[in-house]
Amino acid sequence: IRASYAPYRNEEEEMEGLIFLLQDITEHEKLETIRKEFVANVSHELKTPLTTIKSYTETMLEGGVDDPEMQQQFLSVIDSEADRMARLVRDLLQLSNMDFQQTKWEQQPIHLSELTQKTLTTMEHTIKSKNQQLVYQPPEEMILTNGDEDAIEQVILNILSNAIKYTPEEGEIRVYLQKENESAALTIQDNGIGIPSQDLPRVFERFYRVDKARSREQGGTGLGLSIAQQIMEAHGGTLHLYSREDKGTRVIMRFPLRGKDVETILETGLET
Ligand code: ADP
Repeated sequence: IRASYAPYRNEEEEMEGLIFLLQDITEHEKLETIRKEFVANVSHELKTPLTTIKSYTETMLEGGVDDPEMQQQFLSVIDSEADRMARLVRDLLQLSNMDFQQTKWEQQPIHLSELTQKTLTTMEHTIKSKNQQLVYQPPEEMILTNGDEDAIEQVILNILSNAIKYTPEEGEIRVYLQKENESAALTIQDNGIGIPSQDLPRVFERFYRVDKARSREQGGTGLGLSIAQQIMEAHGGTLHLYSREDKGTRVIMRFPLRGKDVETILETGLET
């Protein structure tokens, strides 16, 4: 708490008393530190690919690379670093839009089992290429929530691709979708590298990565989980992550169930 005071004067400029100001600065300072760290992180994350692009381009311009194969290699590095910057900017814009409540969310019924299936199909190729085992038993009943399907798809894809990324070849990824009391729970579980307990509280922070080099190598921006959490919150849902180092990670997404019961929807169709 910061205390300060100033004299209070009336219209004749005579001192009539003192004004005391008590301010809780801890919260303010905390926010200020977070803001400064964020700016430092953004600058660093943008500077790294930019430095690579610049030095590769300069080398080529100076005529230092004659070999056409080498030239191709240089160009593909430049291309992928430019892609990284584009991803970063896209993620930052999305976060900023959500921060300023500028995101226009669709309000539509979402068929969660269909959507889960769709994301699994999207990632099927990557899972196969790592020789990972995918275990998923779709629920028999229809499970519906409400909201922006593209955004929820983005959340599921993000969690799923983390599970794939941070699980070695031949690993196993299990997916469960079930109804709980008031919500639908979608669980994605892997038996990959896991997260050390000291890092766990921070993984939802923007740019926080347990292993920066590994994440970067995999094309990660370190913003995925914070975006996912923000989308879930905007949908009245929650996102929980449990993990043990060298054992694996379990992420549970909980969505509010759509108000209408299934019979009514079957009778009247899916429109809101
Ligand atoms: P990134 O783009 O680095 O994947 P995320 O915000 O999605 O960023 O995740 C933050 C960090 O949390 C990752 O860098 C990684 O260290 C850790 N992490 C997330 N999911 C998993 C997982 N399934 N297994 C192990 N570590 C994970």
